[in-house]
Amino acid sequence: MLFRRLGEYFEKLETMSSRLLMVEVLTEMFKEAKASEISKIIYITQGVLAPPFEGIKFNLAEKIAEESIAIATGHSKEDVSKAYRKSGDMGITAMELQEKSRLKKMSNKEFTVSEFYDAMRKIAETSGAGSKDHKIKMLANVIAASTPTEAKYAVKYPLDELRMGVGDATVMEALAAAFLGDRKLKEKLEVAYNLCSDLGSVGEEVAEHGIKGIESFKVSLFKPIRPALAERLPTAEEIIEKMGGSASVEQKYDGFRCQIHKKSNKVRIFSRRLEDTTEMFPDLRDAMVNEIRAEEIILDGEALAYNEKTQQFLPFQETIQRKRKHRVDEKALEMPLKLFAFDIMYLEGKNLMDEPYKKRRELLEKVTSASDTIRPSTRIITSSPKELEEFFQTSIENGLEGIVAKEQNGKYVAGARKFGWIKMKRSYKGELEDTLDLVIIGYFLGKGQRSEFKFGGLLCAAYNEKRDMFESVSRIGSGFSEAQMVELKRALDKIIVKSRPARVDSIVEPDFWVIPKYVVTIKADEITKSPMHTCGKGLQKDGTEAGYALRFPRLVGNEAIRSDKSIEDATTTEEVIEMYNQQRKVSIGKEQE
Ligand code: ATP
Repeated sequence: MLFRRLGEYFEKLETMSSRLLMVEVLTEMFKEAKASEISKIIYITQGVLAPPFEGIKFNLAEKIAEESIAIATGHSKEDVSKAYRKSGDMGITAMELQEKSRLKKMSNKEFTVSEFYDAMRKIAETSGAGSKDHKIKMLANVIAASTPTEAKYAVKYPLDELRMGVGDATVMEALAAAFLGDRKLKEKLEVAYNLCSDLGSVGEEVAEHGIKGIESFKVSLFKPIRPALAERLPTAEEIIEKMGGSASVEQKYDGFRCQIHKKSNKVRIFSRRLEDTTEMFPDLRDAMVNEIRAEEIILDGEALAYNEKTQQFLPFQETIQRKRKHRVDEKALEMPLKLFAFDIMYLEGKNLMDEPYKKRRELLEKVTSASDTIRPSTRIITSSPKELEEFFQTSIENGLEGIVAKEQNGKYVAGARKFGWIKMKRSYKGELEDTLDLVIIGYFLGKGQRSEFKFGGLLCAAYNEKRDMFESVSRIGSGFSEAQMVELKRALDKIIVKSRPARVDSIVEPDFWVIPKYVVTIKADEITKSPMHTCGKGLQKDGTEAGYALRFPRLVGNEAIRSDKSIEDATTTEEVIEMYNQQRKVSIGKEQE
């Protein structure tokens, strides 16, 4: 496929306000491409170079793009800056100046999607002394050989400014429609995606080998599995009942989720967002090599700082100090971490994900038995709600978050929130104390004191997994520090779009819509029903329509933007409804007391 064709599809996708149409356009685009181009097309469309665990990013400065545009189009740097100030968009600047290029095109050869991708990847991978000039030249070459529209995308892509808004679920639906003949067969692709976390390779496989290729997808070392997630319930009774009368109940640790892959001396550690974080944990890496009794293994667990003398877990704020790139070894000595392993998914060439949990746990205890750094999570097996409640209380007293109960015969369900794991946190015991992780879909201008920041609050959404849409749930106007307002405004201004993005559902109109990209943590007093919001919207007894909304919402946490959560990791609509129902149960319970 020519890159020019991809650009034409992007022009359609960019202005689209219906998700279904988006799926149709993507389907057509995939059908037109060669199988060997599919993965590259998926990466470019999603604005990335590779899946997160490969860690390849552009980090290209605007200045580099400016200089490249100047060289490629024969305009002065001042002209480029002037055009950029006028449009506020570097891609548009490249397009306009390429239209008025002062240079003669050297050749009329058009480049393919693969040639474009390979050239861009080279730019990203160039590093070291003199790399800046080299990058400028390489990008200038691409722009010079481009049509104006191609030039626009050739600049937006490395600046992380592509605004297609195409999420994983949308891509999978289109792949299923294109290569399996029915978009509902997306579920088959999900299974494969959950095993390898690489949408590009899933796309290529289905394009090349159809359903057979997808069904024979296997877990492989050093490709992270999408993590299993927990449902929530507020009481010990409900947990025991849901688990069929007895459960393994583990302490819930509040640290870094780590999925660790090992093959002899090679170790890789992936975060909850599946980024490669191996460099952050030299102590865990060494322990995996020296203390774990297995050649090939994949473990799941939570790493946190633990004070051996006082036998106290340190709060997350202290553990997080390890999340740094410099002086890692020093910090590792000062604040050693423990990994509380809670699952094992692979051992000596065998996929264990479909084995019952109790068998996996047995194996986990065996392989970790010689390690001090990597220990199995502390747990009890019980059928008594009273015992569960006591274990929960002791966990809280020890500075932990709560408990996670596991179904004894449960599989490891990758990439899904299922009742095979149920969490109970201190917060569910009263009113709505649990926080929500919401996606920013727009923002408002400030009034009064806020006007100097030109920022007056956020419009936020929950993620509806079934619809693959972001549904508005709250307008957030408080909890921001001045620094956070500046940080948010700066980040959001880069992703403003003229109209409501296709995957956003909202009646409330913010002053500016933004591409769903960032997650914030919000605390509220209560979840209420409201006709203003679309989250979980449905018909009420009185015939009117209402969704769910938050009462007294405010931003919490030091970091305004949650860098560890992607938009699809946000609190889901289903969870909001569940939290609403649980809150009602608790208050009804209180009334009865
Ligand atoms: P939370 O903010 O409650 O951690 P989350 O959305 O990150 O929520 P959930 O799936 O809801 O993730 O809760 C499970 C999380 O709890 C896991 O992601 C993991 O990081 C952490 N955890 C701590 N201890 C355990 C344990 N023993 N078993 C499973 N998960 C655990």
